[in-house]
Amino acid sequence: MSMFKTVRGMRDFLPKDAENLRYVEQVTRELADLYGYEEILTPIVESHELLAAKSGEEIRQRMYVFKDLGGRKVALRPEFTASVARLVATKLRNAPKPLKLFSVGSLYRYDEPQYGRFREFWQANYELMGSEKPEADAEILTVTNHLLKKLGLRNYYIKIGHVGILRGILSQEDIVEQQQNHVMQMLDKKSWDEALTTIKQLGASQQCLTTLKKVFETRGKATFGILKKTEKTVQKYESAVAAVQNLRQILTLATTGNKFETLIEPGFARGLEYYTGIIFEAYVPELEIALGGGGRYDKLIEQFGGEPTPAVGVAPGIDRIVLAMKKQKNQFRIRTENRAVVIPVNAEMKIKAFEISSMLREVMIPTELEVTGRTVSKALSDADRREITYAVLVGPEELAEGKVVLRNLITRKQKTVEIKELVKKLKATK
Ligand code: AMP
Repeated sequence: MSMFKTVRGMRDFLPKDAENLRYVEQVTRELADLYGYEEILTPIVESHELLAAKSGEEIRQRMYVFKDLGGRKVALRPEFTASVARLVATKLRNAPKPLKLFSVGSLYRYDEPQYGRFREFWQANYELMGSEKPEADAEILTVTNHLLKKLGLRNYYIKIGHVGILRGILSQEDIVEQQQNHVMQMLDKKSWDEALTTIKQLGASQQCLTTLKKVFETRGKATFGILKKTEKTVQKYESAVAAVQNLRQILTLATTGNKFETLIEPGFARGLEYYTGIIFEAYVPELEIALGGGGRYDKLIEQFGGEPTPAVGVAPGIDRIVLAMKKQKNQFRIRTENRAVVIPVNAEMKIKAFEISSMLREVMIPTELEVTGRTVSKALSDADRREITYAVLVGPEELAEGKVVLRNLITRKQKTVEIKELVKKLKATK
């Protein structure tokens, strides 16, 4: 039989990789708690109809879709927002607002595997439902900034746009929503010329084309200057002007008291179709791909049959955050506790070694027991390799006096200590 491999695009997470992923996941969860976002768990398998409804053409075509044994057409979730919106439209329909919900888990997209792009990947997700106010958008930006900062990332910036700018212009030119979606997909792929040609074919005015061209050319890090310039560019389009003003309010709130770099890009579009307001993505200079993205989607919940509920959210991509942290050589976890290994020097010492290891674990000292019966020196070099702090050597002579040998694997010093003193010694700092 041939050797089994993982399916293309799927990955195994060996211990170090799993530890890194879980570390970032743990920090996302800590932040959820810090900001009052409650965790929910939704299924990986959802109805195809739900997931296909508003995700956008790009993601729709890349879903893992199949019929279950009961003949239901289902799909693996490619994002969290549809599931959260389903809940808010149904079981959480009457829950008091604002609703602040957090999820974290694996998502599935049949993307072409490449650097930072996997078919199974992990996201955290923060959704704030029930406020249309700029302070809600600003909070989501603040959470995003806080997460990246807390993970020790440097020089990151948040690219920010607003779908109301482009949609405002296109709507005033009588371009219908479906056609707008099509254009937005092109813009998401940075095919500006193709988008302009399509918009022209759809009958847009020369004024519209000139305005859009200028919008596409405008971007920069001087937040309020860029916004002012954009407002002037789109002045003939009332709702586009309102969108720029909305961005200004959001950014005034978000950048007061929190310093983070922004890249304002009014012509920026994202693949998901349901956005109605601010959209953004986070980047570090070392990676060309986004670490996370989000935006406002005020219509989705009513489209799913719920009460009209304005909403804004962000999805940090855990895999790419791990990649960025590795590029910047960041620390994933600071182990402060001592770890011990208990090694019986011969077979007769096994029972006592078992007893001592249980005693240490009882007081929550991470303790391993040597279980292979190999020589002490082999056991010690393995403990070294695995960065264990202390070895407890259980031998007959010391044991006769109620003692063991405690060896510090970092300083390589050892001494004979009373068994009843062990806990105190191991709890002390390194
Ligand atoms: P989206 O759900 O498309 O808004 O994506 C939000 C974030 O999820 C992105 O910024 C990425 O960090 C991450 N992400 C999306 N697709 C993938 C993928 N195929 N592989 C790894 N991470 C992804």
